Amino acid sequence: MPEPAIEVRGLRRTYGRTVAVAGLDLTVERGQCVALLGPNGAGKTTTTEILEGYRHRDAGEVRVLGTDPAHAPRRWRARIGIVLQQVSDLGELTVRESLRHFAGYYPDPRPVDEVLTRIGLEEKADARGRTLSGGQRRRLDVGLGIIGRPELLFLDEPTTGFDPEARREFWSLIGTLRAEGTTILLTTHYLDEAEALADVVGVISRGRLVALDAPHDLGGRHAGRAVVSWRDDDGARRSEHTDTPTRVVAELAARFGGEVPGLAVSRPSLEDAYLELIGGEAE
Ligand code: ATP
Repeated sequence: MPEPAIEVRGLRRTYGRTVAVAGLDLTVERGQCVALLGPNGAGKTTTTEILEGYRHRDAGEVRVLGTDPAHAPRRWRARIGIVLQQVSDLGELTVRESLRHFAGYYPDPRPVDEVLTRIGLEEKADARGRTLSGGQRRRLDVGLGIIGRPELLFLDEPTTGFDPEARREFWSLIGTLRAEGTTILLTTHYLDEAEALADVVGVISRGRLVALDAPHDLGGRHAGRAVVSWRDDDGARRSEHTDTPTRVVAELAARFGGEVPGLAVSRPSLEDAYLELIGGEAE
């Protein structure tokens, strides 16, 4: 087995009396896309920024691409890509100039035109940073994150402010990067984004990792009780919670003598599983 891309044991970080990260463990294998979910203030950004080498930790062991980010050399930094939570201010530089400038920091950057295409900003290549819309700036941030051809990409709430089409395009960009073998650690508040992109979802609550599983399995949701619902003869919607939905559907089919009006069978959604895992902590 190759060494994991990220390995964290017993990570702690406090700010004064606030315990932001309270003994967190996390392993991300090479090539995985992992989404971290958690309520505001759960410790996602603090954790991510410690992994990026931007914040110090009080305790715990951290290896990122085999190196402790607190003592990482420059050549380590060139192997990771980072999209921070706040939009960067690139003021007077044009989109192309910004990309070209950042490309200069890396030994084997992607061609600027390729990145422009990937982030869908070809038409804005010669526009100055300050004239871009919020979503366009965010796309440029993503472009700056991938220009160095990173082995590991950190994305902190990357699609905040994107319109639905831009989000879909971003998802497809992430799909391409994954297919190329890039390891991705992403924080997001959009559960559909986690479901669409991640091999594994981690839920952080009060500074600890409380679940780490495939989106489909999180919180045991695929094994959760199903809800069978249908429309009765009087037109009213009826539903039944059951561990044996097939039996319920068969009984309904027999009762209606064929098609069951308005039949639907559902399992707990990722949102249901997530809300259950964080208990009453959501703000
Ligand atoms: P969000 O979803 O809102 O981005 P988060 O999960 O990323 O939240 P963090 O930003 O890591 O959470 O914050 C965790 C806790 O640490 C919060 O209680 C926050 O107020 C506190 N905190 C974070 N940064 C600082 C700081 N620089 N100084 C003091 N407290 C901080």
